Amino acid sequence: MKTTTVFVAVCLILIDQGARSRFLLPHVPDRVFPPVPEYVSNSTLDEEGDEYDPEVSPGLFQGDMALTTEFYNFWRVGIRFDVFPEKLWKGGIVPYVISPLYEPSETVTILKAIRTLSFMTCVRFIPWDGKRKDYLLIWPIKYPKGCWSFVGRFGGAQIVSLQPPDKRGPNCLGTEGRALHELMHALGVFHEQSRWDRDKFVKIHYENVIPQYKSNFDKESLENTTYSFEYDYDSIMHYGRHFFSKKKGKPTITPKQPGVKNIGQRDALSKGDCLKLNDLYGCLKNPKTRRKYYNICNFLGV
Ligand SMILES: [Zn+2]
Repeated sequence: MKTTTVFVAVCLILIDQGARSRFLLPHVPDRVFPPVPEYVSNSTLDEEGDEYDPEVSPGLFQGDMALTTEFYNFWRVGIRFDVFPEKLWKGGIVPYVISPLYEPSETVTILKAIRTLSFMTCVRFIPWDGKRKDYLLIWPIKYPKGCWSFVGRFGGAQIVSLQPPDKRGPNCLGTEGRALHELMHALGVFHEQSRWDRDKFVKIHYENVIPQYKSNFDKESLENTTYSFEYDYDSIMHYGRHFFSKKKGKPTITPKQPGVKNIGQRDALSKGDCLKLNDLYGCLKNPKTRRKYYNICNFLGV
């Protein structure tokens, strides 16, 4: 091909991409109103705590999840897709848009999280084509600020809020961990310590919890919950020791089993997180992919 032809072809591709991205980007307001149960949405933002944590500050259900009231009554650690088939991303395909408001390094962090999930599970993240009805809109929402997500597929353009670094700290994009946590919510996974059997594994110190956030430590009845895997202290979906604490140094949740030191890591998927996602999306059904994903989870899960 002649150089001029290549040049024209490259220009056409660039023009096409420019036009498409302008066309593809939806308008996102600074202030959004995720549907959450009334008493939860009325709670105030905790902007003054010494231990500012963008995951516990949005004032949503259990800190960082946007839930509908109807759904609130039936949630579980991993959504039961037999009860809520509409919450599942069909075929494990998740179209996404990353906001152009992010700095390149922040976009890279988000893409790393997406790449990790795509590698460790059979869930497929694909750039939104501008046509599919349901997709994730990863955006630095100004209100409520912080790291938050809906749980499972919500329908339409679905916000995943990841607050970029500022003078207070790295917020949701210091590493890929927080992005992984919120994307796991978007895929249908709840917090690990909300399992009905959690009292065998952790103690909740209600006396240390900020009163308005006590419900963030609720657990669910066995009726709505089943678990394929053991309780997972290493889960990226587990609360840390001081989440929603009234005072510095006063723990709100501590492990009961001997030898367990750390909870609330936000670095990487645990073996359990990896298996849980693969299980939810049917990646373990086929014997061939089952072996593949069991191996990946065992090797790469923390
Ligand atoms: Zn969360």
